[in-house]
Amino acid sequence: MNVYADNAATTEMSRLAKDVMISYMENIYGNPSSLHSIGQRAAEELAKARKQVADCIGCDPVEIYFTSGGSEADNQALVSAAAIGKRKGRKHIISTAFEHHAVLHTLERLEKEGFEIELLPVGEKGTVTAKQVADAIRPDTCLVTIMYANNEIGSVLPISEIGQVCRAKDVLFHTDAVQAAGHLHINVKEQNIDMLSLSAHKFHGPKGVGVLYAKRGIFLTNIIEGGAQERGKRAGTENLPGIMSMAAALEDSCSRIDENYAAVSHLRDRLIEGLLKIPHCALNGDPDNRLPGNINFCFEGIEGESLLLLLDAKGICASSGSACTSGSLDPSHVLLAIGRPHEVAHGSLRLSICENNTEEEIDYMLEEIPKVVEYLRGMSPVWKDLISGKKQFML
Ligand SMILES: *Cc1c(COP(=O)(O)O)cnc(C)c1O
Repeated sequence: MNVYADNAATTEMSRLAKDVMISYMENIYGNPSSLHSIGQRAAEELAKARKQVADCIGCDPVEIYFTSGGSEADNQALVSAAAIGKRKGRKHIISTAFEHHAVLHTLERLEKEGFEIELLPVGEKGTVTAKQVADAIRPDTCLVTIMYANNEIGSVLPISEIGQVCRAKDVLFHTDAVQAAGHLHINVKEQNIDMLSLSAHKFHGPKGVGVLYAKRGIFLTNIIEGGAQERGKRAGTENLPGIMSMAAALEDSCSRIDENYAAVSHLRDRLIEGLLKIPHCALNGDPDNRLPGNINFCFEGIEGESLLLLLDAKGICASSGSACTSGSLDPSHVLLAIGRPHEVAHGSLRLSICENNTEEEIDYMLEEIPKVVEYLRGMSPVWKDLISGKKQFML
């Protein structure tokens, strides 16, 4: 059996998203900046997509900027807010220790440029409270950037409450909503969100296309210089097939959020309950407040990489840490941020499922994963030390 359980890394494009993409590749090839009819036809379609996306997150079409994905949107949001802050002499930025690297690495660059970065601790459950944010805001704070939901451990953060605090204190609030868009309800106006990033390939759309929402009046700094596309804020001929496909995928996902949430979280809970029967393991993240499709465990005495390879041989595609972290030997910064010791963090497994996964696939994973964990422990010198009492169990 083949099971794709790595939807937090990327999702398979839906039939609808593929059809829309192909149809625009075949039929609408104009450049939206061209003045002739073929170009203007493309421009009209682009305007439709902007409206569709805006309607999905509760903003105006003029507040939508199409980008090459979530990473670019995060970069532009942070760099723009920093530039606005600098002009007002405000150089303090608040974020969390477990953001995506698109945020964390941009913050590192801003720190080198003289900004003061404060990363709030996320505690054992992997969340921050609005009170933590309120207490951290100072007169010189120019930006709060906190993710909507974490890509590794799936915790969903109190974004509405944080938005309220930021609005009351007149501080810009950006949220990386890449894991939330299409899976949880978002309304930027009601939630007091000033800037938001999303990425098409996390909700069954194509890779290489995303959105930065920026509230009207926020002056954006260009990351890509060139032509006057996207109201002069993001140069480059628009990826029309990708944008149209993304808009269709987002609209489709948003129309089925409640239905998908119920179905997927049911599968998730079965998987979590079953895996918890494995001795010396622990669920990572908030047991209650988590993405419907996220399952993340630490198994003591084994290496996540070996677990992944053996599961892959059995047809199960999973992940250990994030796609960006795997390939390096450092344990996930997210697991370290929630207080998992290095040794334990190395033995992590993330399964991220979606509405395409089935009960049979969950049964199959519940049958195979415990066997693979036991097999690896049987060969592990660390496990030997643990059961002989030479080392103390941590889980
Ligand atoms: C995937 C992801 C990104 C990056 O999006 P890309 O479109 O792949 O650049 C950013 N943030 C989070 C939380 C993600 O899960």
